[in-house]
Amino acid sequence: MEVLTAGSNADLLIEQSVVFNPNVVVIADVNQYDKVQSALDPLDIKVYTGDAIGEVVSMEQIDIVLTALVGYAGLLPTINAIKAGKDIALANKETLVVAGDIVTALAKEHGVNIYPVDSEHSAIFQCLIGEFHNPVEKLILTASGGPFRGQNEEFLKSVKKSDALKHPNWDMGAKVTIDSATLMNKGLEVIEATWLFGIPAEKIEVLVHPQSIIHSMVQFEDGSIKAQLGLPDMKLPIQFALSYPRRLKSDFPRMNFADYPQLTFEQPDVQTFRNLALAYEALNRGGNVPCILNAANEIAVSEFLKERIGFLEMSDVVETCLSKIPYITSPCYEDYVETDKETRIKAIEIIS
Ligand code: MG
Repeated sequence: MEVLTAGSNADLLIEQSVVFNPNVVVIADVNQYDKVQSALDPLDIKVYTGDAIGEVVSMEQIDIVLTALVGYAGLLPTINAIKAGKDIALANKETLVVAGDIVTALAKEHGVNIYPVDSEHSAIFQCLIGEFHNPVEKLILTASGGPFRGQNEEFLKSVKKSDALKHPNWDMGAKVTIDSATLMNKGLEVIEATWLFGIPAEKIEVLVHPQSIIHSMVQFEDGSIKAQLGLPDMKLPIQFALSYPRRLKSDFPRMNFADYPQLTFEQPDVQTFRNLALAYEALNRGGNVPCILNAANEIAVSEFLKERIGFLEMSDVVETCLSKIPYITSPCYEDYVETDKETRIKAIEIIS
């Protein structure tokens, strides 16, 4: 491994550096630099800080960049890596949500492959292997439904941050866990799927599957459906993005069908969990609207985590921003930057 990066979690970065022995590490938080530097200096690991995250991605020794930053922050480093001709293992779905047109066009221009790390998209990618010339009739994105599946508005009004952070199947960061509880995560994933696989919104269906064993499915024009299954664990999709087209032998726990005698399915409740409907609306309107959706949601989630707004108000913030921020049909990169900034200001204004 060449480079390992972190935002502000110095301890974990040091711990991982000792195990993986990269040549370079970047700690984005300048205040943590001295700590990391003094810990890794004896190991002969170079330490950088600040904006270096945007620059190390173009280092000559790198073949593939795993982008796992959270939110809009992942956009620029991903663009830099693509411009430097590096293949991308994409864990940062917001990059494609915000500027999917620019990112995919750049990837094409620079001959760069984007391998999905998101488990649903990895599943679809795996189902599509050997099928690249066969048209897709429908993608079926599965969703666990999150911790509040089946609950009504009355219940959701009083939901607390600690309840929303308890995901039934997946162990993930705070942002994506809240997004899973509101179904925004699935909405962002619909948009992500559109750009990764070139499939329009009307051919992408969301299906709630509480056990998270089927990670997603593809239906072809002859009616055949292919699915990818396994235990809910991110190790496999991460590994496959890095090892494609090979499958590396692993000792990850195996799924045993007898442990799951019932795999169940239901329609998502988009009346109660409005974020999924809002994401489809953003995708259908196109232009800078998905960028607005994402920025408004990032603010809404962060304000919910600070306990300044309630669970249902997160959708209100997103919906209001979608109607208030001016529409741009074919945004350039600067338009996305401006839209993101403007939306964040508007979202804060709505909340306060
Ligand atoms: Mg996912």
